Amino acid sequence: MRQILLLVVFVLAARWLVKTMRAAQTQAAMRGAARPGATRGGAGAGPQAATKPRQLAEPMVRCAVCGVHAPKSESVFGGAHYFCSVEHARRYAARANGREGR
Ligand SMILES: [Zn+2]
Repeated sequence: MRQILLLVVFVLAARWLVKTMRAAQTQAAMRGAARPGATRGGAGAGPQAATKPRQLAEPMVRCAVCGVHAPKSESVFGGAHYFCSVEHARRYAARANGREGR
């Protein structure tokens, strides 16, 4: 009789252990899915980065009107400032001219 009781306890303990391990595995899988681009995304972008390493190191410039940061090659340079778009360059120029005219 004692042996049966021991067996039941052992089975319950084994079940609990399996449950706990499964929960841990699920948590680990969910953690891995939470950040999919952490390592695999970087590896996927690897070939592109290898062909164009300079693009990643391109300096960012700040728009003098709205403060948005944009890659230097995509920004508009006017006067002594960079702008995110031609429109902002014109706006800045108009504002500067207005100040000077006063
Ligand atoms: Zn801007």
